[in-house]
Amino acid sequence: MKNKIVAGNWKMNTSFSEAEDLLVAIAEGINDMILETDIIVCPPFPYLEMAADVSEESGFLVGAQNVSSEKAGAYTGEISATMLKSAGADFCIVGHSERRIHFNESDEMLIKKVNNLLDEDIIPIFCIGEQLAERESNKQFQVVENQLNNTLFHLPESDFERIIIAYEPVWAIGTGKTATPQQAQEMHAHIRKLIEEKYNLKTAYSTYILYGGSCNSKNALELFACQDVDGGLIGGASLKAEEFIEIINAAETCIKNN
Ligand code: PEP
Repeated sequence: MKNKIVAGNWKMNTSFSEAEDLLVAIAEGINDMILETDIIVCPPFPYLEMAADVSEESGFLVGAQNVSSEKAGAYTGEISATMLKSAGADFCIVGHSERRIHFNESDEMLIKKVNNLLDEDIIPIFCIGEQLAERESNKQFQVVENQLNNTLFHLPESDFERIIIAYEPVWAIGTGKTATPQQAQEMHAHIRKLIEEKYNLKTAYSTYILYGGSCNSKNALELFACQDVDGGLIGGASLKAEEFIEIINAAETCIKNN
């Protein structure tokens, strides 16, 4: 069994000093742990460099939450992949439903973002997932297949291998309504099968597929224990160090039980 990944998406939360406290608390919390789980912390842009500094003494990795679809130049307010890399980010969330919905991010933009990140050697954590109405009409498998076809499956195998996928059913994000382990497992197995059909078994097996959507310390163990769930992308529950560390412990338990 491969290691797990637990990634924290802080979204647009924390002041500078709150971010510092949270980073230090996470660092201290994992200090004595011999970890087989990869931990990725994704704070807001202004705290990336601080996160990178704290991470040097600790065992976590640093990611951003967004990147510009443009490379450089006259795009006021945008943050490029080159900037992320120079600030210490090695990962970046792309295609989060909050960005697709509130900022109208199109498939074309997402493709450009992924390309810009890969050019800078930043690993995209690419989010896919269906809306509630789509699940209620049993279209979730088709929706996710379309998202993969439209945004990732143009990549050559050597690039696709560098992507982490996060299955995040939109109805579960920030709602307290988690997918059941069975719902998560069947979707993750479906995604892995699509990767195998597009690429091959080796790539399908080695691709990390994380679950995201109201994952917390109470449900992490049963979700991470699913065969095709390689860890989690954690929103609200990553803002409390103790809670985040309990989720990391759940991932460790799953690794040890296998
Ligand atoms: C997320 O924002 O990626 C997420 C999974 O949020 P939450 O855990 O709060 O549902």
